[in-house]
Amino acid sequence: MAPKKIAQTVLTEGKFYTISAANGKVIEVADYNIDNGAKIQLMDNANFEWQQWNFVAAGDGVYRIQNRFTGKMMDLDMGGVSDGTRVHQWEGAQASSQLWVVEPTNDGRVKIKSNLAGKLLDPGMATENGTVLQIWADVNGDNQFWTIDEVTRKPKTSVKATTVKAKAAAEKAATEVVKAAKKLVDLVGADYIVSVGRGISKDVEGGIKLAHELADVLGGVVGGSRVAIDSGWLTADHQVGQTGKTVHPKVYVALGISGSIQHKAGMSESECIIAVNKNDTAPIFEIADYGICGDLFKVTPMLIEAIKAAKAAK
Ligand SMILES: Cc1cc2nc3c(=O)[nH]c(=O)nc-3n(C[C@H](O)[C@H](O)[C@H](O)COP(=O)(O)OP(=O)(O)OC[C@H]3O[C@@H](n4cnc5c(N)ncnc54)[C@H](O)[C@@H]3O)c2cc1C
Repeated sequence: MAPKKIAQTVLTEGKFYTISAANGKVIEVADYNIDNGAKIQLMDNANFEWQQWNFVAAGDGVYRIQNRFTGKMMDLDMGGVSDGTRVHQWEGAQASSQLWVVEPTNDGRVKIKSNLAGKLLDPGMATENGTVLQIWADVNGDNQFWTIDEVTRKPKTSVKATTVKAKAAAEKAATEVVKAAKKLVDLVGADYIVSVGRGISKDVEGGIKLAHELADVLGGVVGGSRVAIDSGWLTADHQVGQTGKTVHPKVYVALGISGSIQHKAGMSESECIIAVNKNDTAPIFEIADYGICGDLFKVTPMLIEAIKAAKAAK
């Protein structure tokens, strides 16, 4: 059945858009920076600023695609790979490799084509964290169609609330702030921290429970990577890293955390780092004193039992 024809998004400079692939995933600045820019991946999570793009007109129907979060432009990796050409983000904004043509289709989606190479943007090879974007010569794969949606903001609540209502709301908010403040986790003063990352995503509740159990037997607290905070699994006071807390515990346990530059910025000075990750090439192992390659859901209960046994033996 032919796809239903729907209205094409009209691109307007100064507005922000999400760019989603046929599989519904949203283009995002990658999790980790590399020397010459940040890789671009497709991620499941939506609505974060690093998943928002501005189409800057650079000629008739030609755009530069700029990330809202970093301000960097989407760019062909001129190094090239045998089966396509990778896409990166780059500081420099004027190169012709940063020019893209957004070609409408008849079903509301678009093709995003390099003005330089004529190749189409495509999700390319799958990786654990998402999909590295490449551009490909083939032109008809469904994964070469993209949906561009303007970022819609939640409507602002009416400012016509009565003084009484506003006062009651303010009192309620103040009580909640006080309650929340009491519960804030003291990461900076903690000697033992057990942090969780995206690795718990297949069973978030179970993963957080394990982290708390491990933290409890160690006498420590639970922290998290930014993914854990942005996904709503932990509150912001738990975040370790560049835009979170910088910690110096005696022991830092990283469960299912890859070890991005931004995460390491907040915990690399820990006295002892223990990393549990199922991927033996995860960057966290580069700074770990003890690295355990395995499934955190299997390894963490063993750690808990081993610590309990060691304590009991004392
Ligand atoms: C300006 C900026 C500031 C940032 N600030 C911060 C910050 O303060 N703190 C921060 O943390 N991040 C920050 N980030 C985000 C950072 O780049 C990464 O996105 C984030 O650290 C990745 O979190 P993660 O390691 O949990 O997820 P991922 O990178 O997705 O890693 C998940 C890891 O879990 C492993 N895994 C999956 N399943 C299992 C399993 N069952 N058992 C064991 N391992 C498993 C995977 O192998 C993978 O290595 C910032 C980014 C930017 C651009």
